[in-house]
Amino acid sequence: MIETLQSIVQKVNRARNLDNVLSIIVHEVRKAMEVDVASVYLTDFERKQHVLMLTEGLDVKDMDAIRLDEGEGLIGLVARRAEPVNLDEAQNHPRYKLFKGIGAEELHAFLGVPIIYQRDVLGVLVVQCCRESAFSEGDVAFMVTLAAQLAGAIAHAEARGQGNSIQKIKSATTELFIKGVPGAPGVGIGTAMVLAQEADISLVPDRQVDDIDEEVFRYQDALAQVVKEIDDMKEALGEQLDEESRVLFDAYALLVNSDSIVENVIGKIRQGNWAEGGLRDVIQGTVQKFADMDDPYLRERADDIQDIGQRILQKLVDKDKKERKYPRRTVLVGENISATDLAEAPTKNIVAVVSTRGSSSSHAAILARGMGIPTVMGAEDLDLSESDGLEFIVDGYLGRIYIESSASVRQEYSRLAQEDTQLSRELNSLRKLPAQTPDGTTIPLYVNTGLMADITPSKKSGAEGVGLYRTEFPFMIRDRFPGEEEQRHIYRQTLKAFIPRPVTLRTLDIGGDKALPYFPIEEENPFLGWRGIRVTLDHRDIFLTQIRAMLRAASGLDNLNILLPMISDLGELEEAIFLIDQVFAEMQDDGEEVSWPKIGAMIEVPSAVYQAEEMAQRVDFLSIGTNDLTQYLLAVDRNNSRVAKLYDSLHPAVLRAIHQVVEAGHKYGRPVGVCGEIAGDPAAAILLLGMGVDNLSMTVAGLPRIKWVIRSFSQRDARIMLTRALQFTSAAAIREYLNSALEGAGLGGLLRAGK
Ligand code: PEP
Ligand code: MG
Repeated sequence: MIETLQSIVQKVNRARNLDNVLSIIVHEVRKAMEVDVASVYLTDFERKQHVLMLTEGLDVKDMDAIRLDEGEGLIGLVARRAEPVNLDEAQNHPRYKLFKGIGAEELHAFLGVPIIYQRDVLGVLVVQCCRESAFSEGDVAFMVTLAAQLAGAIAHAEARGQGNSIQKIKSATTELFIKGVPGAPGVGIGTAMVLAQEADISLVPDRQVDDIDEEVFRYQDALAQVVKEIDDMKEALGEQLDEESRVLFDAYALLVNSDSIVENVIGKIRQGNWAEGGLRDVIQGTVQKFADMDDPYLRERADDIQDIGQRILQKLVDKDKKERKYPRRTVLVGENISATDLAEAPTKNIVAVVSTRGSSSSHAAILARGMGIPTVMGAEDLDLSESDGLEFIVDGYLGRIYIESSASVRQEYSRLAQEDTQLSRELNSLRKLPAQTPDGTTIPLYVNTGLMADITPSKKSGAEGVGLYRTEFPFMIRDRFPGEEEQRHIYRQTLKAFIPRPVTLRTLDIGGDKALPYFPIEEENPFLGWRGIRVTLDHRDIFLTQIRAMLRAASGLDNLNILLPMISDLGELEEAIFLIDQVFAEMQDDGEEVSWPKIGAMIEVPSAVYQAEEMAQRVDFLSIGTNDLTQYLLAVDRNNSRVAKLYDSLHPAVLRAIHQVVEAGHKYGRPVGVCGEIAGDPAAAILLLGMGVDNLSMTVAGLPRIKWVIRSFSQRDARIMLTRALQFTSAAAIREYLNSALEGAGLGGLLRAGK
C-alpha cells in the first residue's frame, strides 16, 4: 500500500498543472482501489459550490452541469463534516442526490474523503462501486492518507492558476495572485530572477537561451568535470576497491557518459532551453523509466541517475552563480532567500524580494526591511521552476505576488507605488524634527543596522543613534572570521559616524538561522541550541577578540554600548560582564586609552522576562528583542511559513511580557528599549509609547514612519489605548483596533500601498 501511495504522490508532484494533477489522481485511485468510479470535486469558494472536476467511470457529457451547492448531497456532507463518509448503499441516505443519465443509478457503495489544506476543504475525493458493501477500514485509511498528501499539490496547482480546469472554480474576473506573508512594506515591479539555492533538480526553472552553442558547451564542461571527479575518486580508492565494487563504479561512470542521456540533454538545449532545464527533463524522464522497471536491480539504478543529475547540476549552478547578470529591475526570488543572498546581491538592481519559505521575522526579511526593499515571505505556492524571467508585482504590505498580471492591475500598482514614493518623500521632511508626541514626550528613535552601506542612510534618516548593530552581518559576508583589527576598523566607522550619539554593538549572535559559511553549526533544533551568547561564551577567543575590537574602536569616542544577545540565565550575564571587565583591565594595564562602555542585556527569552529585575540590577540598560521573544513565548518558529499566521508580536501574551520588562527596568532606574521588529510596526509603536518604553530601534526605512506615529499620538492617548488593547484576547483584535485608530488619525498610508 505504501508503495502505491508513494508512487501516486510522486506522479502528482511531478504534474505541471491542475489538469494533470486531477487526471493522475482519478486514474490512479480508480486503478489502485479497483473501483467502478473515481471522481474528484473541488470547492468553488466564490460561488460556494462543489464542482465535479473529473471522473472516471461515469458517463458525464457536460461536466459543467454537475455542481452542488455548499452542503448539498453526499459531497456536501463530506465537505461540511470535514470527515470521510463510508456507505454501503448511498442511495438510501437522505442526503443522496441522483444525477440522471450518467450511469449513477448502478452505483451503491460510496466513500468520500475531504481534501483539506491549511484548514480549508479544497474538495472531495470519491470512489463508488456497484456492489452493496461498505469500504473496508484499510480502504478508508488509504484514501485519507492519499487525500492528505495530495492536498498541498492541489492547492499549489490551484494557486498557480494554470490549466483549463482552473476556470471552473475561479471566475474569469478573479485576478490570481500568490499569497505569502508580508516581509517588508512597499510595492516592487520587476523581472523575477530565481536564485538557485541548492542544486535540487526538481526545482530547476525553464529559461530560454540565445546562444545555444555556448549552452551546449556549458553542459559538456559540467559533464567533463563530473567524469573527472569520478575518475579521481576511483583512483583515490585504488586498491581498496574489490572487483565487485570496481564493476559498480565502472557502471556508474558509464551511466554518467551514456549516449542516450548526453544526446537527449543536448537535444533539449538545441530546442532553446538552458542546460539546467534540459538536464532536468532528461534526468526526470530517465529516473521515471528506471523506477517503473520490474527488475529490482534496474529499478535501483534510478537513484544513481538522480545522483548523476544532481552532480552535473551542481557544477552548472556553481558556475552560474558566479556569472549571473541581474536585470535592471530584479525581483529576487528563491526557495529560502537568506540574509547572505541579499547582502551579496547588487542592491541598486533589486526592487523586491520573494522567498517561498520563511516569515516576516526571518533575518532575510529584517535585512530587506532595513534596505527598504518590498518583500513577501513564505509564498509556498509559487512555482519556482516557472518563475524565472516573468514580470512580478510584489505587494509587501499584503504579502501578495501578481505574476504577468493584467494591464489594469499593473496600472493600479504603478500608481500605488508612485504614491508610496511620494509618501516616503513627505515623511522624509520629518527628518530634522524630533520624535516628540503632541503632549511633549520625546522617544529617541534609533536604527538597527549591521551593514557599512547603511551608515549614510541611517545618518540621513535623522536617527538619534544605533540601537542595534548586528555584528554578525559583517561576519556573514566574509569567508573567515574577521580579525581584531578588521573588526575594530568596521566598528569604528559606525561609532565615529554617529558621535556623540550612542552606538549599540551587539556581540556576535550566530546560530538559529544565522550561519557563518566557515563555521557551520548543524543541529536538530537550532533555535533552541547553540546560539548567541552560548556560542561566544563557549568560544572565549571569539568573544574576547570582539570585545577588544569594540573597546579599541571606541577609544576617544565614548559612545559605545555593548549588548549581549540570547541571555537566558544570570550566570551568562555575569560571565560576559566578567570577561568584558577582564579585557578592559588588560587594556588599561597596557596603557591604552579605554573607557568603560554601557552594557545591556537583550531580553528575548522568556526566562529573562521573569528575571528582568535581576538582570536590570546587573546592567546599564535592557533591550527587548521581540523577534525571538515572540517565537519563544508563542512556540512559533520565526522562519516557518506554515505557522507564520500564528506569529504576531501583538499577541496579548507578548505585550504583557514587554510591559512587565519595562516596569522591571524602570523599578531599578534602567532605560528599556525595544529593538525587535515590533518597534518599526506603526500599530505596535502606539502601545510601546503607552508602556513608557525609553527608545525604539528599527530599520532605517521604518524610522520616518514611526516618527509620524509618535508625532501624531499623545502619550496620554497611547496609555488609554494600551489599557483598551490589553483587554482584547487575540492579536487579530488588537491589530484591528490599532489599525482603525491609525486610519482614523489619517495614517492609513502606513498600513497599505498608496497614501
Ligand atoms: C530580536 O530577536 O528581536 C532581535 C532584535 O534580534 P535578532 O532579530 O537579530 O535575533
Ligand atoms: Mg534575537
